Amino acid sequence: MTSEKVSCLIIGSGPAGYTAAIYASRAGLNPVLYQGAQPGGQLTITTEVDNFPGYPDGVTGPEMMIQFENQARRFGTDIRYGMITEVDFTSYPHKVIVDGKKEIIAESVIVSTGASAKWLGIEGEERLNGHGVSACAVCDGFFFRGQDVVVVGAGDTAAEEASYLAKLARKVYLLVRRDEMRASKIMQKRLETLPNVEILWNTETVKLNGEHGLESVEVRNNKTGEETVLNATGFFVAIGHKPNTDIFKGYLNMDETGYIQTIPGSSCTNIKGVFACGDAQDNVYRQAVTAAGTGCMAALDAERFLMEHEVEVMLEESAS
Ligand SMILES: Cc1cc2nc3c(=O)[nH]c(=O)nc-3n(C[C@H](O)[C@H](O)[C@H](O)COP(=O)(O)OP(=O)(O)OC[C@H]3O[C@@H](n4cnc5c(N)ncnc54)[C@H](O)[C@@H]3O)c2cc1C
Repeated sequence: MTSEKVSCLIIGSGPAGYTAAIYASRAGLNPVLYQGAQPGGQLTITTEVDNFPGYPDGVTGPEMMIQFENQARRFGTDIRYGMITEVDFTSYPHKVIVDGKKEIIAESVIVSTGASAKWLGIEGEERLNGHGVSACAVCDGFFFRGQDVVVVGAGDTAAEEASYLAKLARKVYLLVRRDEMRASKIMQKRLETLPNVEILWNTETVKLNGEHGLESVEVRNNKTGEETVLNATGFFVAIGHKPNTDIFKGYLNMDETGYIQTIPGSSCTNIKGVFACGDAQDNVYRQAVTAAGTGCMAALDAERFLMEHEVEVMLEESAS
């Protein structure tokens, strides 16, 4: 197996990874960035991004991520195709394996592997993604002002998405598969106060219809078998996200759903020299701009760590 030593390794190429790369390369850390299976990250599967500052007329997700990449390249980031398949953080410097066949010895590691929204896997969902189908009300709710929308899910996220959309949409149907919600009592109480939210209990989605954009949602009551068509132009899947952090299990502290825990106010993890940013460590905000912000933090934390480490090594050498 070939081996290479790097000062700063960045894992992931979403807004967090590329922002970390911009800061790390400008600070002279010569970062190497592995893009993973989804170069550009989650935004490459969406159409319009309207809420990232600096784009007054909006921008498409793929276009914006090319600009992130170009900016990171401009300062010399070494951007590579490849997937990190294994890590070993038990000794320092850290060991990381790329595609099961190359070893990287890294003095600092920035984890920006993001998260993936969970989807239902029903007919029309993938085809209409970005054309009425979304997994983020804060991102896309604005496009459905005054329209009828559907939210699917029964947890706190679904309740939050429905409440958020109730301020913008004319009508919000919340589809709950069972006859009760998992959301906290307080969130459920809040939903009850919203006159334009209607909860459809024991209801599952069958199919999404529409040619170029969502036109209607076919649903079925799983108790009675009755099928109904809801005329809605927005369909928000709120059944959870999965952070892409499996390879770090056993090394990095995580919450019960796999989000990496960082020391508050920093990107530092429980392992020295390993930093986490973006959606991989954020189950609350999950926005491109917050991912970019924490990417900046991770690069600055890595830079400080490497400088302090260098001084420690110098002191050790002069003492011996
Ligand atoms: C459909 C959709 C629309 C959205 N719209 C908006 C919006 O309008 N505005 C907004 O602010 N936010 C939006 N979001 C949320 C936004 O996309 C995320 O908050 C943001 O992309 C998170 O950035 P990130 O860098 O943390 O991770 P991600 O964008 O998830 O990127 C993760 C990166 O890590 C890589 N990776 C994962 N595992 C490995 C591995 N083992 N080795 C190497 N690389 C790996 C992946 O290939 C990917 O490049 C949207 C999300 C979705 C799904």
